Amino acid sequence: MSQKFDVVVIGAGPGGYVAAIRAAQLGLKTALVEKYQGKEGKTALGGTCLNVGCIPSKALLDSSYKFHEAREGFKVHGITTGDVNMDVPAMVGRKDVIVKNLTGGVAALIKSNGVTLFEGHGKLLAGKQVEVTKLDGSVEVLAAENVILASGSKPVDIPPAPVDQDIIVDSTGALDFQSAPAKLGVIGAGVIGLELGSVWARLGSEVTVIEAMDKFLPAADDQVAKEALKILTKQGLNIRLGARVTGSEIKGKQVTVKFTDAAGEQELTFDKLIVAVGRRPVTANLLAADSGVTMDERGFVFVDDFCATSVPGVYAIGDVVRGAMLAHKASEEGVMVAERIAGHKTQMNYDLIPGVIYTHPEIAWVGKTEQQLKAEGVDVNVGVAPFAASGRAMAANETAGFVKVIADAKTDRVLGVHVIGPSAAELVQQGAIAMEFGTSAEDLGMMVFSHPTLSESLHEAALAVNGHAIHVA
Ligand code: FAD
Repeated sequence: MSQKFDVVVIGAGPGGYVAAIRAAQLGLKTALVEKYQGKEGKTALGGTCLNVGCIPSKALLDSSYKFHEAREGFKVHGITTGDVNMDVPAMVGRKDVIVKNLTGGVAALIKSNGVTLFEGHGKLLAGKQVEVTKLDGSVEVLAAENVILASGSKPVDIPPAPVDQDIIVDSTGALDFQSAPAKLGVIGAGVIGLELGSVWARLGSEVTVIEAMDKFLPAADDQVAKEALKILTKQGLNIRLGARVTGSEIKGKQVTVKFTDAAGEQELTFDKLIVAVGRRPVTANLLAADSGVTMDERGFVFVDDFCATSVPGVYAIGDVVRGAMLAHKASEEGVMVAERIAGHKTQMNYDLIPGVIYTHPEIAWVGKTEQQLKAEGVDVNVGVAPFAASGRAMAANETAGFVKVIADAKTDRVLGVHVIGPSAAELVQQGAIAMEFGTSAEDLGMMVFSHPTLSESLHEAALAVNGHAIHVA
C-alpha cells in the first residue's frame, strides 16, 4: 500500500519548501521530495536560492564590498589601514558556512512542521501519484490528493561556450573560484552576470561583460539603466553591448572567446569565463507521459493565475512556471497554492513583484517603467530625487543614483518606483507597500519620513511628481 498524503511537493527550493511548510501549518498531511545533494554529499534543502543562488552570491557580494571599502572607501572618512588583503578561500568558506546554516535551518523547519521528507527524484504519474526514486535506487510511489511541482530552473548552456566548470563556468562555478582570475569574461549582462562580475572585479579581476543585446538592462527603467551603465563602467566593468559570442577555445589555462559586434569579428582571452545567459525550467523526467500536465511553448509547466496546471489538483510554482525567476515570487506562489488547497481564496498580485540587482549601488524597482507606461498610452508625471541631494547619502559617501517615482497624470496613483543607489532593495520595498495600498504620490508626499534617512529621497521623489520637492531644483 502506498503512503497517502494531502499534498506532495516535488522540489525543496524557496517555492517548494515554503509551500510544504504552509500546507503543514494548515493541517494538511504533507510530503516533500528533494534530490539535491549539497557539498557535503547530503541532501540539502533550499534549492538554487539557498545553495547556489541568492544567498551565496550575496555572501560574496557583501564580503567583496567590505574588502573594496577597506581599500578604497575608508580614506574619505579619515580612516587609514595597513595593507588590506583578501583571503579568497576564507571568503568562499564563509559563504559555504552560511549556506550550510541556512539549509540546515530549512531542514529543521520541515521537521518541526511535521512535513515528511523523501530524499530522491520525484516524478508525477497519472492519477496524482508521485514516484520517488530514492538515493539507494529503490522506488516508492506516493498517493496524493494534491501535487505541487516546484522543480525550479537551471542555467542555460550555449553551444559556443560549453561549460567545463573549470575554465568556463556557470553561475554555480563562479561562486567557488579559489582566487580572483586576472582576466574574467562574463557572457550576459543580466542580473546574475552583473552581480558575479562585480564580486570578482572588486577582488581585482579585469572584467569584460559580453552582451548580445544592444540595450543595457532592457527590463529596467531607461533612465535607471543609463545611470547603471555609467556607474558600473566607471567601476571598471567593461560592458560590450551588441556583442554576440560565436565560439570559444580553451588553450592551457585560458579561454579565447570569439564574438561579433558592430566593429566586426573580435576575440578576447580570459583566465575564467562565466556563462550567465539565463535560466531554463527543470522538467527532465518530472512528468510521466500520461500525467496530463502540459507545458507552454518555452518548456515551462503551463499554469493559470493561481498556479493550477491542466490537471485538477496538480499545481506548479516558482521558476518552473511563467513569470519572474525570483525566490520571493516562488515562495509567495507556494503560500498561495497551499492556502488555496486548504480552501482559502488567496491570490497574488503579480503586478507588484519587486526586482533587485545587488550591484553597488543596488538597482531595484517595482511596478512599471516610464517607457512601458508610455507604450501603453498612459500619461504620467515623474518625480526624481538624486541621492546627491540627500544629507544622509552624503554622510555615508553614497551619493550615486536617484529615486524615481512615476504616477498616473490623471489620478496621481503611483505606478512605478525605481531606485538606483544605496539600499535600493530596501527603499523599493517601501514603494511596493505603498503601491499595494493604492497610494497616490500626494499620499506619499504627505507622510512624515525620519530625518536624516535615505528614505527621504523616496519622499522627495513623490513630492517632485507634483512639483513640490523641497530639496530638488
Ligand atoms: P529552485 O530554487 O531551483 O529549487 C528547485 C528544487 O527542486 C531544487 O532543489 C532541485 O534539486 C529540486 N528538484 C528538481 N527536480 C526535482 C525532482 N524531479 N525531484 C526532486 N527534486 C527535484 N532570486 C532572488 O529573488 N533574489 C536573488 O538575489 C537571487 N539571486 C540569484 C543568484 C544566482 C547566482 C542564481 C542562480 C539565482 C538567483 N535568484 C535570485 C533566483 C532564485 O534562486 C530562483 O528564482 C529560486 O531559487 C526559484 O525557486 P524554486 O523553488 O522555483 O526553484
